[in-house]
Amino acid sequence: MTNLAKQLKASTCPYCGVGCGIEVSVATNETSQTLTELQGNRQHPANFGRLCIKGQSLTQTTQPEGRLLAPRIFGKQQSWDEATTWVANKLIDTIEKHGKDSVAFYVSGQLLTEDYYVANKLMKGFIGSANIDTNSRLCMSSAVAAYTRAFGEDLVPCCYEDLDKTDVLVLIGSNAAWTHPVLFQRMERAKQLNPSLMVIQVDPRKTATSSLVDVHLPIKPGTDAVLFNGLLRYISKHALDTDYIESCTDGFDKALLEAQEFTPQRVAKSCDVPLADVTFFFQTFALSPSAVSFYSMGINQSTSGVDKANAIINCHLASGKIGKQGSGPFSITGQPNAMGGREVGGLSNMLAAHLSFDNPEHHDLVSEFWRTENLATTPGLKAVDLFDGINQGKVKFIWIMGTNPVASMPNREKIEAALAKCNAVVVSDVVQSNDTLHYAHVALPATPWSEKDGTVTNSERCISRQRSLVEPLGEAKHDWQIICDVAHKMGFAEAFSFESPSQIFNEHAKLTAYKNNGERALNLMGLVDLSEQEYQDLSPIQWPVNGNQPYKWQGQKRLFEDKKFFTPNKRAQFIAITPRLPKQLSTSDFPYVLNTGRMRDQWHTMTRTGNAAKLHQHTPVAYLYVHPADAQMLSMQENDLVQLTSSTNKRGDVILPLQFDSNLRRSTLFAPIHWTNEWASNASVSWLFSSDTDPISGQPELKHASVKLSKLNMQQQALLASREALAATTLSAISDYWTCTKQVNCYVYRMGIKKTTASQVNWLDAIKSSGSGKGVFYEYKNTNLTSQTCVSLDLDKLEMVVHFMQGNPSIANDWLDSLFSAALDMDQLPHILRFTPPVEFIQGNVICSCYQVRELAIKQAIQNGTTTLDGLGAQLKCGTNCGSCKSEVLALIELTHSNCNPSVLGTNENEITTKPRQVIETLIPIKNLEASNL
Ligand code: SF4
Repeated sequence: MTNLAKQLKASTCPYCGVGCGIEVSVATNETSQTLTELQGNRQHPANFGRLCIKGQSLTQTTQPEGRLLAPRIFGKQQSWDEATTWVANKLIDTIEKHGKDSVAFYVSGQLLTEDYYVANKLMKGFIGSANIDTNSRLCMSSAVAAYTRAFGEDLVPCCYEDLDKTDVLVLIGSNAAWTHPVLFQRMERAKQLNPSLMVIQVDPRKTATSSLVDVHLPIKPGTDAVLFNGLLRYISKHALDTDYIESCTDGFDKALLEAQEFTPQRVAKSCDVPLADVTFFFQTFALSPSAVSFYSMGINQSTSGVDKANAIINCHLASGKIGKQGSGPFSITGQPNAMGGREVGGLSNMLAAHLSFDNPEHHDLVSEFWRTENLATTPGLKAVDLFDGINQGKVKFIWIMGTNPVASMPNREKIEAALAKCNAVVVSDVVQSNDTLHYAHVALPATPWSEKDGTVTNSERCISRQRSLVEPLGEAKHDWQIICDVAHKMGFAEAFSFESPSQIFNEHAKLTAYKNNGERALNLMGLVDLSEQEYQDLSPIQWPVNGNQPYKWQGQKRLFEDKKFFTPNKRAQFIAITPRLPKQLSTSDFPYVLNTGRMRDQWHTMTRTGNAAKLHQHTPVAYLYVHPADAQMLSMQENDLVQLTSSTNKRGDVILPLQFDSNLRRSTLFAPIHWTNEWASNASVSWLFSSDTDPISGQPELKHASVKLSKLNMQQQALLASREALAATTLSAISDYWTCTKQVNCYVYRMGIKKTTASQVNWLDAIKSSGSGKGVFYEYKNTNLTSQTCVSLDLDKLEMVVHFMQGNPSIANDWLDSLFSAALDMDQLPHILRFTPPVEFIQGNVICSCYQVRELAIKQAIQNGTTTLDGLGAQLKCGTNCGSCKSEVLALIELTHSNCNPSVLGTNENEITTKPRQVIETLIPIKNLEASNL
């Protein structure tokens, strides 16, 4: 490529709510633009140059393969004019026939603030319904409701700097080491600089985050409000800030009355943790000058999530640990722009710009500002209710933007049924295939990160530019453009005449300032009327940017330093909390509690991270994590395939391979949320969860399902490596279970066949007819027919290897990948056919993705005497770049030290052996497989 220009552009990472700044080199020639190098932006206040492995790998995720590049109506490519006309006419027609509440938008925390703003304006302001909700409902809507109840507005009081300045850091329901890695690294540095910083973890699971903590309270799932009611009682006796309570708050007496029964003894019993640890936590929090409570999905994704968050806030108000440096209840958002969605009113129970449906003056204000007489007057349907509305026939049109509800919403069966019966399903997305697009009547190609242009707001209220780095691919359009095109065709041209994201941002900023008079904290007055260039150059800034900070470009780090809140009487509100149990309690039929969450190197439904082979190495497939003692009781081994059922899904649609995790509480399980039907036949855990939600926030309970697990016996299993990706339909035709791992040079599939059927016998024909697998096919069988290998070679180019066996396969992904990297040395063929990886390829999972350091290498170095993180970093480089793996390296140090049998290096059969596998097969001569059946 002839480089005409190489330009360094600043933007923002599109993954988690930390909102890290990045700098990207973009090389441009006559025909294309390429992202060449990427690094953390040292000037960005969210990360000061640091990035986790997901952020570092962004340039590997932008390939054109799999992109949706042109509009489709009923599967047929159409012009944008035809597609937006179809959508506009369908909206008009549905509204005319069934009323304005018969249509709905379901949007996403992946949208930029400008996209969100126009979507909200169209639905609430001009269609006149509030049926616009967002996948952020699943992420942090309980935190929003709790802040609003306590402070009168959805306000995060803290900033990241508070993590450096606090005396006590309480991590509640958050595996920050994996979910918000750069903030976790900031906590690690804070602890290094201030060894007296106390870190306390409240989480049923011991996680990677536990490496930092002084005390871990592995509470019984769902008992968080009990713990914090107990803390409130303790504070009332030992550390009450009576001046603060009297001068700044209401409702303390009622809240305390409700908390009175929660003595430390009762808390210890209810939460099932040692009394000494409970007392230590209470003393540490209450008696320290400052404390930050850092919480996320573990609190929010609950049928009592709002109460749990208010129980935490109560403790900060009672002890006066709020509105000052190093103190406050700090809810961390999962998504890159969940906060931006909250600002514009992307949730169905918000109006716009932190204005409320409950206040008639707010309604008048927005109507006046938008110059509409059709503004929605009541809240719309929240996510779960919205899909219920479709199932009940009330909602007949849905436009889904940038999210995959079939995979992410609870009760997948119900979501699929809703989309199957909905009159009109429109999906705007960047990919051409996902679990939700399967139901789309119209698919609209939207721009992804790297093409999108606008702003996002992170967890500390910091607005950053996400800049367009390259031109949109194919016919992809920005979400705000698509929405405005549809609005024009619905007759709302004047209100949607935006020509750039800066014009939208300006209108959004103006609305936050409109008739504000200091009554609403969300005020961007200082960012109104930016010139196009000023918007392009906008530096990260924390809102409010208002008259109290009169200088343009100067935001506000921390809220409530003036002890004024945004309730009608300006006082914060205590909320009396009666703890409630989760709705999906375990029973004799479903005795295990399933918890779900994120893995270190994947993001959401893998539409981006799934493209980077490097990000598959840490966790190659979706596992079900089980305590080894529970597995022993069930006679299950690691790598066994197990089937999960729940009262919501008795069919057993979820099948996962087992991994042991002794850090779990007994009778609890953990499974990741990322793997969809694009990556595995049966890994979507959304099947198992009921539609139970928090009664205030509407947030589903995605951390607590009661399930049963049973071992699934397969007649035959296989590992298949293919140069080309195989279609899900092909894989499902030849197996009962499959899962895919992307490697650098190939795709590796694990497959299971329950009982061989006629179509599965002809698996080779199925693969060939799908266009995969080329050249000549060869086969080996061992003499007793317990395993079998088949190889497809196109001259000296390996196209496919498949190894069938009766037991569980050992993962050999790196070895398989290496075979596809160059022309095949025919001397290797016997090894491939015997399926015997050389020892250097049996090294366990990648722990350090940056430097490709594997588990066995780290364990061997520890056994040889290198027993510190720094020492291992110096020797192997692990943990010395992004730092995401440091907690796992520390765990290996602990594990390897405590292992009384040094010859056994682990418990995972995929990763423990130091010897090459014995060759037990008796080779039979290579023969052409064309006439052979397996
Ligand atoms: Fe992106 Fe990682 Fe920063 Fe989150 S912590 S914004 S995923 S680089």
